[in-house]
Amino acid sequence: MNTRRDFLRKMGASALMLQLGSITSFSSAANQIGKPYEGRVLRVAIMGLGGYGTRVAEAMKACTKAKLVGVISGTPSKIKAWQARYNIPEKNCYNYDNFDLVKNNPDIDAIYVITPNALHHNQVIRVAKAGKHAICEKPMALNAREGQEMIDACKNANVKLLVGYRMHFEPRTLEVLRMRNVGDFGKVMFFQAQCGFKAGDPSQWRLNKALAGGGSMMDIGIYAINGARYMVGEEPVWVTAQETKTDPLKFKDGVDETIQFQLGFPSGAIASCLSSYNISHLDRFYLSGEKGFAEMQPSTGYGPIRGRTHKGELNQPITTHQTVQMDEMATIIFDDHRPAIPVNGEEGLKDLKIIDAIYQAAETGLKVKVKG
Ligand code: NDP
Repeated sequence: MNTRRDFLRKMGASALMLQLGSITSFSSAANQIGKPYEGRVLRVAIMGLGGYGTRVAEAMKACTKAKLVGVISGTPSKIKAWQARYNIPEKNCYNYDNFDLVKNNPDIDAIYVITPNALHHNQVIRVAKAGKHAICEKPMALNAREGQEMIDACKNANVKLLVGYRMHFEPRTLEVLRMRNVGDFGKVMFFQAQCGFKAGDPSQWRLNKALAGGGSMMDIGIYAINGARYMVGEEPVWVTAQETKTDPLKFKDGVDETIQFQLGFPSGAIASCLSSYNISHLDRFYLSGEKGFAEMQPSTGYGPIRGRTHKGELNQPITTHQTVQMDEMATIIFDDHRPAIPVNGEEGLKDLKIIDAIYQAAETGLKVKVKG
């Protein structure tokens, strides 16, 4: 007999939380109301068992449509610990030298690449060649050329490429987009994003150009870029950018400490953004239209996301971002579900083209056109 506990387990914490609130029409979770999930489960191996990989693994415990079943790691002791913690069989454990063998493993559907930025390009291409779907952390790659190569590799292998844009499934963010789409803000004129924190340990890979591909822009500034695109609802056509460096010992050549940048959109709307590794407590979005506004702070942290519009507080359900993301990604992979804001490789590439343009603008001082 089904007990209430069985029911809760089957529904998963995130899905249940979404059902209890006034979920937006954007989420496929709305389709599940009242029905335990009986569809296909996405069996995922995580590559790179670091800080964020651990967060994703913990969040996946509450997934209903995705399950952690494997690991790929350069650290044998972590593999052992994860096997014990997540009940992962030996046959689903790989290292960076042998993970191409996953092509012979029918029990893994997708690999989630959560390693330092510079490794994503090669690792995703190997995942594609092994015939597995690739989920890749942001930034998808170091530049647009690499991003395009990853898209091509996944297309050639007939596998999907998704980017870990967890905010694309966040209910309060989606509510602002719903309001914009129905005209509540009127014509959008201006967006502002402040994204930053103080980077600690100077020896971490994030401050190593060879592994990070840059500095704050690659890590946290990308949230401002991505946010500008989904909040304004257009693709920018030009950028200008200015870099400030106060600590060249910590933030070496090619590792940006702070960049201010501006984006221009076809409608005439503009965005003014700040990306920093040396300013604390920057996590704020502001969208201004002719008839109203939306303000979110925190806007992209792990949550809860908080915000208000000219109509009042945003009060959509609070979710664990990575739980919802992985459940939604299962439906994108298996059912071709189209989320309100895409998370495919092309979406990742758009951000990379803008990053390329921002670095060029910061270096030259010129207004740079974003490549279409
Ligand atoms: P960590 O340093 O915490 O973990 C990275 C892991 O990658 C390491 O633990 C290691 O795992 C593996 N790795 C493989 N090669 C190297 C290498 N040469 N140097 C260091 N680590 C290596 O980083 P994060 O988890 O914070 O970040 C990983 C990725 O996730 C980045 O691309 C980052 O931008 C993204 N990220 C996304 C977030 C989001 O909210 N979407 C939040 C935080 C990060 P092992 O020992 O198992 O091999």
